[in-house]
Amino acid sequence: MERLANFIGGQLCAPVGGQYLEKREPATGEVIALVPASDARDLEQAVAVARAAFPSWAATSVEERSRFLVRIADLIEAHMEELAWAESRDTGKPLWLAQQVDIPRAVRNFRFFAAGLLHFASEAYQTDSQAFSYTLRQPLGIVGCIAPWNLPLYLLTWKVAPALATGNCVIAKPSELTPTTAQMLARLTVEAGLPPGVFNVVQGEGPAVGTALVAHPEVRALSFTGGTRTGEAIARVAAPMFKKLTLELGGKNPTIIFEDCRFEVAVHEAIRAAFSNQGEICLCGSRILVQSSIYEAFRREFVARARALRVGDPLDSSTQQGALISEQHLQKVLSYVELSRQEGGTVLCGGERLWLEGRCRNGYFMAPTVVEGLAPGCKVNQEEIFGPVATLIPFDSEDEAIAYANGTAYGLAASVWTDNLGRAHRVAESLQSGVVWVNCWMLRDLRTPFGGMKHSGIGREGGWEAFRFFTEPKSVTIALWRD
Ligand code: NDP
Repeated sequence: MERLANFIGGQLCAPVGGQYLEKREPATGEVIALVPASDARDLEQAVAVARAAFPSWAATSVEERSRFLVRIADLIEAHMEELAWAESRDTGKPLWLAQQVDIPRAVRNFRFFAAGLLHFASEAYQTDSQAFSYTLRQPLGIVGCIAPWNLPLYLLTWKVAPALATGNCVIAKPSELTPTTAQMLARLTVEAGLPPGVFNVVQGEGPAVGTALVAHPEVRALSFTGGTRTGEAIARVAAPMFKKLTLELGGKNPTIIFEDCRFEVAVHEAIRAAFSNQGEICLCGSRILVQSSIYEAFRREFVARARALRVGDPLDSSTQQGALISEQHLQKVLSYVELSRQEGGTVLCGGERLWLEGRCRNGYFMAPTVVEGLAPGCKVNQEEIFGPVATLIPFDSEDEAIAYANGTAYGLAASVWTDNLGRAHRVAESLQSGVVWVNCWMLRDLRTPFGGMKHSGIGREGGWEAFRFFTEPKSVTIALWRD
């Protein structure tokens, strides 16, 4: 059985305490690897090597740091197949999805920030004839990047690439449910020639090594993606220590279908938004708001297509929906189906666990599920389920659609389907949502800020926001002598 390792000071190493956790493959339920159950002692080692590496990494020229990032991107691309296979095996997602989305996006993340770094500039002002003022942006030192299990390499690299680009040393903490590709990335940074200590990975559980990372006084900033409750716990520790924080948290995203939409493409994309990656994407559209005049037609098509989605072995290229991440998570998602019945909803399709045959007979599979008849304010329409469950909610007017869309504690993403340009602008402006898509879903220009409002988080990632987050601005004013 594969025994994974931490990556500290450029070396793969065993956890100090010698303890390991079992990693199960979601598609088969079998234990496939042992993951270091690291603790504060491992974290302390990572901090020590990062501290030692920081001065020379911070002094490395921008061009050189950019070249390191490009090299890492090229190596990820060269190892696309192994990485995609590992990502699919760890997460249960279809292999083709990891090949087409997760790993290519990790490549893009490194390339994007490598290029952006060369163009990142800070401002300078002349104050009449008295002075020049400019902003000096300096790396923070040691930063922590904590990633979830749903898009493990994609989201980890989205944090790590700008942190490295701006001259910081990184301690990364992947989810213990998806440890493999972070270790593979670590190996590739060695191949790319990244100096030891600049990038480190500590594996293990959030409450143990994650907490140690968050609480360490030398870790100056934390970029976290995960659940809202975890974000809250992190903020409670980090805020009194005045650490910089970005928290990318949960969502309960609306897909808003107006009667003037292009029906065919709207149904197609609403299905994709609801069920991609088994519904385990923070951006998934799990509440489908549909204008009453087309509700019946939409429901018919939507349910028929949800029912037709092929749930199967992630390695099979015809599989559209793979396995959920764990038995525990599957049970949580199923409990929401039960709750939806108690709350007066009607399950139009799915709602049950699926037992496959052969290799995947013990995997964590679930049928794509559609529920209607629930009040917008009920728990199922308020809480993040993070699985293949979508609810249908009819609305009559634009104002009602906006009120339903905004009527949750979350505010991460929304997609709006209409051919009316005025309405598109009006609705986009009114939505309490960090990301709004009009007539598309999950189409990202990496230059735009990314993040949520309300309980979906604080701070923004992406573009210049990431460079600003990972640097400390210092305002320098030089008086001009007039002798
Ligand atoms: P969790 O919040 O459980 O975990 C996220 C990461 O934080 C994991 O690496 C976890 O480690 C770690 N962690 C857990 N507890 C602590 C702690 N006390 N201190 C430090 N680190 C800790 O989220 P999931 O992994 O379950 O991911 C799913 C959630 O992520 C969903 O709510 C989803 O909406 C959200 N998400 C948000 C995105 C966004 O951009 N807004 C994007 C993708 C997902 P471990 O797993 O090892 O315990």
